[in-house]
Amino acid sequence: MSTIHTYDELKPLDMHNLQFDIAAERLNIQPWILEKIKHPRREFVVRFPMRYDDGRVELLTGYRVQHNTLRGPAKGGIRYHPQVDLDEVRALAALMTWKCAVANIPFGGAKGGVQCDPTSMSPQEVERLTRRYIWEISPFIGPDQDIPAPDVNTNPQVMAWIVDTYSVFRGHTCNSVVTGKPLELGGTLGRLTATAQGLAYVLEEAAKIRKISLSDATAAIQGFGNVGSNAAYILENDLGVKVIAVSDVHGGIYNPRGLSIRAVKDWVNRTGSVINYPDADTITNEELLVLPCDILVPAALENQITKKNAEKVQARIILEGANGPTTPFADEILEGNGILVIPDILANAGGVTVSYFEWVQNIQKLFWTESDVKAKLRMVMTKAFYDVYDLASREKVSMRTAAYMLAIERVAEAKILRGIFP
Ligand code: GLU
Repeated sequence: MSTIHTYDELKPLDMHNLQFDIAAERLNIQPWILEKIKHPRREFVVRFPMRYDDGRVELLTGYRVQHNTLRGPAKGGIRYHPQVDLDEVRALAALMTWKCAVANIPFGGAKGGVQCDPTSMSPQEVERLTRRYIWEISPFIGPDQDIPAPDVNTNPQVMAWIVDTYSVFRGHTCNSVVTGKPLELGGTLGRLTATAQGLAYVLEEAAKIRKISLSDATAAIQGFGNVGSNAAYILENDLGVKVIAVSDVHGGIYNPRGLSIRAVKDWVNRTGSVINYPDADTITNEELLVLPCDILVPAALENQITKKNAEKVQARIILEGANGPTTPFADEILEGNGILVIPDILANAGGVTVSYFEWVQNIQKLFWTESDVKAKLRMVMTKAFYDVYDLASREKVSMRTAAYMLAIERVAEAKILRGIFP
């Protein structure tokens, strides 16, 4: 599978460590606490044989990193991608810790992944892969320990196989071991679109601050998976934004008069990609990032806006749907050019926030309505946005540095309160 990758400037873990240090040096926290919360608490590497439909057997490597559990159980998605490795999972697990702390939900951070190419696998192969990987990590996950969820190339069906495998392991049905489940297995209304919905709520506040009228604004969105496609749809249909470009791993499409996202989704369902959509020009992923537009939503993979292309970005707001799409070098350039970057650990926290709502409903054996979920999500996202924005204004730092400062302070406070064992 080809990846949307422009320039590999810094590895995600180096990026995380640099961003952590930039924020930490502005805080008055003891060095040992910073050292403790910067790095993962526990890391699991598992190797297992995978039997393909044609009888071939290959050894695969999977990871689960529990970065932090000071504020609650470890929490974070599982991704299947050729690019997955231990350092990437470490970085993504750390982002989950900070994301949950920014949203102020009672979870730590985790991430899992298997290095593989699920796009070339049959559904049966993905099921076998999932069950075997989950079996390996089953002793270390659980509703009060570590709660996986969907991420790149995983979905509610994969979560259903996780529920089943874990329940067999425990000897009783245990739905609350994962979030992002199908509704029939205890999933919540609003989880599928939660990350995109959270992006929209945050964007509404950012637009007020930057005095941008969303119904006159244009957006370009990189990535057409769960986050990108739903963000495109919500921006167009709920906020009245003109979505002029979208893309996936195969390339992008551009129509300065605006795309109908419903029609693009239909096209993708029929053909498997956004490319060759009739009512638009073809562009590359690199070109999409530098289009003239008001709002740029990177919603694919890491390292997309780098020092190579940051100078050429024309958007006024960057809304990070992906984790780690902007490098620290690019951040400096964007800030210098007056572009408002709403960082991943704030912007895309809607997904894990609704995961938290799902977990709460599971524990209480209750079901909320979709409007309940959305109203509570708006509250959490709006509060998180202003917590970060106010701190950024007070400290005269970027939204990213402020978000890290806020998160690090909250996690460090938990450490101080809990003390040292024994
Ligand atoms: N994978 C999503 C993220 O990166 C959601 C994680 C979750 O719901 O636990 O935020």
